[in-house]
Amino acid sequence: MKILILGVNGFIGNSLAARILEEKDWEIYGMDIRNDKLEGCIGNKNFHFVEGDISINKEWIEYHVKKCDVVMPLVAIATPATYVREPLKVFELDFEENLAIVRLCVKYKKRLIFPSTSEVYGMCPDKEFNEDESPLVLGPIRKQRWIYSASKQLLDRVIWAYGFQRGLKFTLFRPFNWIGPKLDELTSDPEKEGSSRVVTQFISSLFLSEPIRLVDGGMQRRCFTYVDDGIECLIKIIEDRDGRLNGEIFNIGNPENEATIKDLAHKLRELFMNHPSTKHYKKHSEIIEVYSKEFYGEGYQDIDFRVPSIKKAKEMIGWEPKVDLDTALRKTLEYYLESNLK
Ligand code: UDP
Repeated sequence: MKILILGVNGFIGNSLAARILEEKDWEIYGMDIRNDKLEGCIGNKNFHFVEGDISINKEWIEYHVKKCDVVMPLVAIATPATYVREPLKVFELDFEENLAIVRLCVKYKKRLIFPSTSEVYGMCPDKEFNEDESPLVLGPIRKQRWIYSASKQLLDRVIWAYGFQRGLKFTLFRPFNWIGPKLDELTSDPEKEGSSRVVTQFISSLFLSEPIRLVDGGMQRRCFTYVDDGIECLIKIIEDRDGRLNGEIFNIGNPENEATIKDLAHKLRELFMNHPSTKHYKKHSEIIEVYSKEFYGEGYQDIDFRVPSIKKAKEMIGWEPKVDLDTALRKTLEYYLESNLK
């Protein structure tokens, strides 16, 4: 099997590629604007990497869509601070550039495995979000945070319609707050504040002994999923030989790992403080509260809870997550501690 992975250096891409090369004899063709997370892949005879931007290298992409059996376009902006600061960039990359790739899959009749997002459910009131039943509830236009959710939702609908009208073979997956090594770069640059996801934002603050900031009190809840669990599910989706998963959408998350953002802050701070390598720290981060207006700007609106139903993934894919929250946080933190102390 030949797989095209666009955005192969990203958080999901690099981890998926490394696991495939370890366990399977599949060939990977990958493109990314960077290669700093690919040290375990580059050099492997089944890994063919080209450094490049998907909005420029159109010919390379068309040639490889034609050549491969499965296409996974993983290039996207997925950090809330960017939805607020640069909504057009989110639309252009996440929607427009990816639509072009979807159309190539239609043209060459290739199987598309596409990342939707748990954000599409928005402020859905359901206790557990169901892929085929739950309503998708977004806020007003002037809250530009929703451009990501709306872009992804429309692309889900377009992909679905290509399946319905033109026979496109596709599977959509919706990650729920995946965490793990190589999630985001740690940053000490105030300009980039908020530009990573919550777990890496908190870890950055811990390293710098700066305050951990809970947006609007931190009572909002998320279900955190360890990346290895998510990748295992993706590999099973790719393996679907008889087309059973064609036309289906799957939540990939861990409903057992629910925590408030406040709990998350306390858990991470404790893990950090108790780690032998941080003994030399004289001062540890305090945990403070900030208003979302100050942290993200006027265009932000939050989601209070987000729990996946994973019944469908259990039944159709035979997958369920195994890694509990404390282990997932410890492993993620340990990766950053080890790579920062090198
Ligand atoms: N958040 C926070 N402090 C931070 C960063 C994020 O309290 O420094 C909150 C944010 O408002 C949201 C949650 O943490 O409610 C998760 O944020 P993340 O960026 O990981 O993405 P989301 O799950 O909202 O897509």
